Amino acid sequence: MSQTTDTTTAAAVAPRAESLYDSARAPKGGLEELVYRSNLLGANRAVSNYGGGNTSSKSRETDHTGREIDVLWVKGSGSDLATMGAKNFTGIRLDEVLPLIERDEMSDEEMVAFLSRSQLGPEMPRSSIETLLHAFVPAPEVDHTHPDAINMLAGAENGERFVKEVFGDEAVWVPYIRPGFTLAKQVGLAARGEGVRFVILAKHGLVTWGETGEESYANTIEAINRAADFVSARAKARFGGPARPPLSAERRDELLAQVLPAIRGAVSSERSKILQVDASPSTLEFVSSRDAATLSQVGAACPDHLVHTKRVPLWVAYDPASDDADALAARVAEGAARYREEYRAYFEQNARAGETIGDPDPRVVLIEGVGMVSVGTNLKGARLARDLYHRAIEVMGGASAIDSFVSLTAPESFAVEYWPLELYKLSLAPPPRELAGKVALVTGAAGGIGSSILDALAAEGATVVATDIDADGASRVAEPFGDEGLGVAMDVTSEQAVEAAYREAVLAYGGVDVVVSNAGIASSAPIEETTVAEWDRNHAILTRGYFLVAREAFKLLRRQATGGSVVFVASKNSLVAGKNASAYSSAKAAELHLARCLAEEGGAAGIRVNTVNPDAVLQGSRIWGSSWREERAAAYDIDPDELEAHYRARTTLKVNILPEDIAQAVLHFASGVRSGKSTGNVLNVDGGVPAAYSR
Ligand code: NAD
Repeated sequence: MSQTTDTTTAAAVAPRAESLYDSARAPKGGLEELVYRSNLLGANRAVSNYGGGNTSSKSRETDHTGREIDVLWVKGSGSDLATMGAKNFTGIRLDEVLPLIERDEMSDEEMVAFLSRSQLGPEMPRSSIETLLHAFVPAPEVDHTHPDAINMLAGAENGERFVKEVFGDEAVWVPYIRPGFTLAKQVGLAARGEGVRFVILAKHGLVTWGETGEESYANTIEAINRAADFVSARAKARFGGPARPPLSAERRDELLAQVLPAIRGAVSSERSKILQVDASPSTLEFVSSRDAATLSQVGAACPDHLVHTKRVPLWVAYDPASDDADALAARVAEGAARYREEYRAYFEQNARAGETIGDPDPRVVLIEGVGMVSVGTNLKGARLARDLYHRAIEVMGGASAIDSFVSLTAPESFAVEYWPLELYKLSLAPPPRELAGKVALVTGAAGGIGSSILDALAAEGATVVATDIDADGASRVAEPFGDEGLGVAMDVTSEQAVEAAYREAVLAYGGVDVVVSNAGIASSAPIEETTVAEWDRNHAILTRGYFLVAREAFKLLRRQATGGSVVFVASKNSLVAGKNASAYSSAKAAELHLARCLAEEGGAAGIRVNTVNPDAVLQGSRIWGSSWREERAAAYDIDPDELEAHYRARTTLKVNILPEDIAQAVLHFASGVRSGKSTGNVLNVDGGVPAAYSR
């Protein structure tokens, strides 16, 4: 089965929305009903985008002085309708803000400062950018959403005429203007009109209201379905119809396994990105259509998408008859470079003094006939860009099926993308961690040291790929990281298994930046008793396995052209002659020298290769749960229970070494921030063993 297939089915041009409101279960009014209704509006992304839309309810409350006051409960900035609870709403003193409608204008800064002083509680979140819109609409319950079907009309060239046809005098059309005081006032006044039930914001969305939450919700659904029926009745083929059949799932995976690392490198000019492949039916229909190349460049389908998807995606032409993976990779690299130039020009043309340019890389890459690759500084960001672009595809599909799709102009887009109030929402996210956007693949991850390494890298923000010959173990250790972790079965001695595991990592996240070669075994026997099978097993896993894992890492990192870090977990025995362990120790010494050779080979491409040498990590280690434990005890002529004390006593620092100690040393080499200028190095984590001191 394809690894990048999305199972959603193709949408109709303008699907109707189903009412999810259950009067019997809905709370009766107040903040609880508002939460219930908001969650319902967010439950269908064709009604309300992730993070977009806002809702409100007006009620009488007792304030901290004991006085009865009118309060506007409105969505707080930065929350999502689908998941928000009561704590994500902010109470605003209505009597303080209602007189503002008499003003002619009010700047954003003044409005934000004013609203913060009218909050009921200082601990409440900053209220939505659209708070005044909710205050000024003279109804107890108000909803503002960005439904696909409404935006098909709102984003059509003749949208105003269509809205008149669909809604007559029941709707007022408000020409595009960025949210803020003026839009709030326009909507508030429009909603006062005789018989008016809906306000439609050009290139933006819908406002509805009601005496009850149920009524306001029902109005949203009614408006969507009236718009959807209109579009469906008139729709021609969307996107101008198909230009070519999309690539088959198998060929797509084969192509993307080659090209994704190159795409990842091309869109990681300032920081590392995670990629997500989307080949859902609507996406495939779009990227295989006649008009996608031009339609995709018109602009965003909703202002709310802009900070996550940018104004336009990168469109990459691809002809399976004449383009191989290298040709496509080269085209993506050229396209991404041109995209950055154009983005910088867009910034120069529109920026005001004091504004600084954001990351210039595209967030959505569309490959003709292949699918969408969405881009984020982490997995969540890549998925958000993908989900918002799904909305854009549906809106463009509807608008283009009845008319020409229109979008915000470049200056209008810029004014939203660099709007301080929109950027504020982004600032609520925690600062990126050291390995954010990086993908780390760890071998032998199910073991004691491997699982600690996984934890340490993930704790610094890496997306992790846990590989092990023990497939269940790999899945088990990846599981706590949810979608930011992938468990993959991989025997490091099998060329084919190693290739397949990297391919899986690439299709899941776009590439790899950090490879920790840690899989291992150990065996102990005097040389005369060492069997050929034992010798070969040590060398197969510790030498051949490290070669195969590193070779594949090099191929991938060169395609990605981002540099990278390869860390070998060798052993103190790679430097010090281990008694009665020649098969293991000589394999570990070969491993160490392989790392040094590869450091030389990878340097010019920014690929660093370093080695961590553990010694005697008994805790959690499967090696120490095996015959190795008895064999080592026998080699030192002590009882197995005395091993821990024995190893502690022989170190200079008189300490036992724990898996976490090895993990911290690996993190040091994995992170460019910590060791970006070190390669070919060895870090002993052995409590101090003089025979292993470097010289
Ligand atoms: P461990 O046995 O707990 O983990 C090793 C993991 O490697 C296991 O999960 C195992 O399933 C996996 N593995 C074995 N053969 C494999 C193969 N062919 N392909 C893929 N995976 C395979 O051992 P650990 O103590 O965590 O050791 C990790 C690394 O540290 C090893 O390379 C080991 O040599 C090295 N090391 C450990 C110690 C120590 O005292 N524990 C000391 C020095 C070096």
